[in-house]
Amino acid sequence: MKIGILGGGQLARMLALAGYPLGLGFVVLEPAADACAAPLAGHIQAAYDDPDALQQLAAKVELVTYEFESVPAAAVEQLGASLPVYPPANSLAMARDRSHEKNLFRELGIETAPFFEVHDLQTLRLAVEQIGFPAVLKTRTLGYDGKGQQVLRAGDDLQVAWETIGQAPAILEGLIGFEREVSLIAVRSVSGELAFYPLAENHHENGILRLSTCLHDDPMQARAENYAQRLLENLNHVGVLAIEFFQIGSHLLANEMAPRVHNSGHWTIEGAETSQFENHLRAILGLPLGGTAAVKHVAMINLIGELPDASAILGLKNTHLHLYGKAPRIERKIGHITVRETSEQALQERLLQLKNLI
Ligand code: AMP
Repeated sequence: MKIGILGGGQLARMLALAGYPLGLGFVVLEPAADACAAPLAGHIQAAYDDPDALQQLAAKVELVTYEFESVPAAAVEQLGASLPVYPPANSLAMARDRSHEKNLFRELGIETAPFFEVHDLQTLRLAVEQIGFPAVLKTRTLGYDGKGQQVLRAGDDLQVAWETIGQAPAILEGLIGFEREVSLIAVRSVSGELAFYPLAENHHENGILRLSTCLHDDPMQARAENYAQRLLENLNHVGVLAIEFFQIGSHLLANEMAPRVHNSGHWTIEGAETSQFENHLRAILGLPLGGTAAVKHVAMINLIGELPDASAILGLKNTHLHLYGKAPRIERKIGHITVRETSEQALQERLLQLKNLI
């Protein structure tokens, strides 16, 4: 069985690594010649919306998935005409537009930060009147890792922020003084089976995820799962859906969702009974889902911009190193480290040691 993946980055690479034991093969459609999934898959090197390339892909595979949410709608439509594409087009359409996504959260009774749509300076002023300062202006589409976002703290900031985000359709959100950022990796299979991983607590540096720690018996777990179930069933979603939340007091506010495997779920490779990558594949193939429990106290650190000394990292016990085969470049995710320990204290001690090595 061959699976097509739109995108050939590290998420496609880790999907392929999880798929080989299940006897699966992969073909990626990816414009970059040095795509890091290419050594593990057939590689069609072309733009994601190239109709000939999409036709070639459709001829080689039985099922298509993707590793990023800004996949052109036309590509999904063309592929969807001849074979299953999972997650489904409506999950993609919701997740790629922050306004659609936040309105869906609201319709399903899932709490969010206050938000308003912004089309021009006038609607930005009106939104600020409703929300007040501080607030954050975000482009509706194509933002990631904090890109396409501007924080507003005073009236003077409006015009500059509007120009900085390229005067693109946007939303204005209240800036939340959250206590924690957590994310939930949820999975729904073709047959409707559901599974949820333990929440992870996430820490960012310069807008990029740096550390995800798997939480045990977190008081917010049940609420997060309930929210995820509403989304999965409303969208008739198939595959992994990752949801990022802000926690403030007893409130759990949904920030955004991604209809794909997610960086904050990389800890599951060595840290859970079944990885998010394997469960995504099981879900889209209609196979029973694997267990999602954490096997130990686990955390994942992203390697950003610079390669570490592999032997120093692996010299620490209970540490696993993943390098994606990407050239180091500033702000680029080039690998990650997973740490598994038998207690929370041992995990925190190990993370302190690791911080000195990366
Ligand atoms: P996003 O692209 O929406 O995931 O935002 C990137 C990061 O910016 C988040 O992980 C938060 O740390 C921060 N952020 C985004 N929106 C808000 C908000 N409304 N309030 C506070 N922090 C935010």
